[in-house]
Amino acid sequence: MKSNHWIEFVTLFIYNKVFFSFLFFIISFHTSYSQQIEKVDFIDVKATVQPIFAEKKVKATASYTFKILKKCDSIYLDAPNIYLLNTKNFNSQIKIVSKNKKIWLFADFKVNKTYKICFSYEAIPKKALYFFKNQIWTQGQGKYTSNWLPSINDMNDKIEFNISYIIPSEKKIVANGILKSVTKNEKFSTWEYKMTKPISSYLVAFAVGDFSKKIIKSKTNTLIELYYPTNDSLHFEPTYRFSGEIFNFLESEIGFKYPWVNYKQVPLHDFMYAGMENTTATFFSDNFIVDSTGFNDRNYINVNAHELAHQWFGNLVTEKSGSDHWLHEGFASYYALLAEKEIFGEDNYYWKLYQSSEQLRSLSEEGKGEALNDPGASSITFYEKGAWALHILREKVGDEVFKKGIKNYLFKYQFQNVKIKDFLIEIELVYGMNLNDFENDWINQTKFQYEQVYKSLMKSKFMRDYLNLLSLRPRSISSKTFDFEKALSSSNVFLGQEVVYQLQNESISQTLPFYKKAFQTNNIHIRQAIAMSMNKIPTELKTDYESLLDDKSYLTQEIALGNLCANFYGDRLSYLNKIDTVIGFRDKNIRQVWLFMALITEDYKQEKKDLYANELKQYSSSIYGYAVREKAFEFIDYLSLWDHETIYNLINASQHHYWRFRASSREILNKLLKIDTYKKQIILLSDTMDDKNQSFLSKLMKEN
Ligand SMILES: [Zn+2]
Repeated sequence: MKSNHWIEFVTLFIYNKVFFSFLFFIISFHTSYSQQIEKVDFIDVKATVQPIFAEKKVKATASYTFKILKKCDSIYLDAPNIYLLNTKNFNSQIKIVSKNKKIWLFADFKVNKTYKICFSYEAIPKKALYFFKNQIWTQGQGKYTSNWLPSINDMNDKIEFNISYIIPSEKKIVANGILKSVTKNEKFSTWEYKMTKPISSYLVAFAVGDFSKKIIKSKTNTLIELYYPTNDSLHFEPTYRFSGEIFNFLESEIGFKYPWVNYKQVPLHDFMYAGMENTTATFFSDNFIVDSTGFNDRNYINVNAHELAHQWFGNLVTEKSGSDHWLHEGFASYYALLAEKEIFGEDNYYWKLYQSSEQLRSLSEEGKGEALNDPGASSITFYEKGAWALHILREKVGDEVFKKGIKNYLFKYQFQNVKIKDFLIEIELVYGMNLNDFENDWINQTKFQYEQVYKSLMKSKFMRDYLNLLSLRPRSISSKTFDFEKALSSSNVFLGQEVVYQLQNESISQTLPFYKKAFQTNNIHIRQAIAMSMNKIPTELKTDYESLLDDKSYLTQEIALGNLCANFYGDRLSYLNKIDTVIGFRDKNIRQVWLFMALITEDYKQEKKDLYANELKQYSSSIYGYAVREKAFEFIDYLSLWDHETIYNLINASQHHYWRFRASSREILNKLLKIDTYKKQIILLSDTMDDKNQSFLSKLMKEN
């Protein structure tokens, strides 16, 4: 079924304020214990890396220091699509050869001896390094840093990376570690970054762009650099709201000082995950850039805390293999929940736990439960079940034991790799008893332990009230008047929302007073529940419903505009006039829906129709983020606004690095290829395109 995209957004939003949390990916690692790790320990890398915008490639010189652990005659660095240019050895005994996606080092290597090599190379990365008009950024996890910097795909070899970057002088760069120096020249500048501690290769990262920054200091004097697009300073505060609080909270909650020299965060164009915890330099999707209104629906807080928690859980102490992935994602998700609890309160914490428990319970009942030590488990297992496991463990052993155990674990295994068992042993040592039951129920078991979960949820008064209210769903409105009154008078938004959902599809004569009261709570989330659940607007509620257009929520405004125009046909012009200057979220949700409505409303501003159509078409261009473009394509398709330029943009989008966007674009392109007139246009256009686009299109046409 093809539905308007914004309606899909609605269903996603309905239970989840942080929309983008679903973007977290299943990134599991099947790290095999290669022979390599037993033979050699890479100690440090010193490199000078120059990314070249125009050619989408990297030129670099890198030197490596390594210690031989076992006598051998060859070792390697992972290096796909990397071409050796020059090999000037410190040790002429070592032969350097590029073969089979690796750089091989051949010599008669002696145990306990330290060696050094140096070479220059060119890399044309197919992934892990992405070039855009104004930005370049990397993504190491799941993609492999070795695509642009010869390194080790295995997380078990931690290396000290000291990298200098040569970039155009008008740009800024964010990278791991501390910025030692910047040498400016007219065209290019060299930025020297330094790490003082070893990290796994997947955590090496850099991002080049037009950034500005503000610096704050944590209670323990760590410098926190918050970057933003230079032309977007107005959104700085709501985007980074609570960043200092989150940092201070996590540091004191974890009880172990932030382990790195500094912390940086930077929002990036077309970043394909919600966030990535590169050591000292978290990258996140610029879809999280919001103003104060957008903050209410889609804020960065959960991702902010999640990526920061990884700086301890994942970056400082790293899994040995994919079976230990809980130690990364479960921990980051759990500590993000705790940070949100600190900001939004305990009810919010239980609400989120409850929601994930419902999902996990139904998966488990369908026989789709997964064990936390299954390296192939899905993201819901690693993230949500993982967080639940820690919540249950903490209840079992108590706050004090839990916190002491966490501290000991981090202290003992810092800068090392661990297994789940190593963590459990540290808790057991403080607890004084074994955790066999916990391990069986929560780590080894595929079944979700709902009885334990239910017992835990029942400790919250809010959850007891909520589940009680939920149990009233089948009953008549008249029999639950008292409960509804009470819920709508409470300060808890989730209870109010539940009342609103129970009013759905009931007769207006019975529900009117409750709807009135729900509107009057002036709580944007309760009012949003009305916007989401009411399709047919009774005339008695017309004025109240119209007031939703003024709510500080772009989601509410978007739904309300659509519903009002559909319900009160005669008033469409005034609704359109009311929000004709609102843009909405980063994906321009309101503006695009508005343009769409303005175009389909025949008697609305005839003289400006071309202007509106052109604006909508423009949003399909690659200068905009994928979220803007995805919406634009839907509307363009719906309105059949296809022309050379928009089709070109669609072909380009169908090869995008972000698979979700690529898939939705391809679906539309495939559809167009089945329509003769468009097919002809596409073939014509194909003649004017470069080889890469042409071969993509000819392949696609064969499939169709
Ligand atoms: Zn994570």
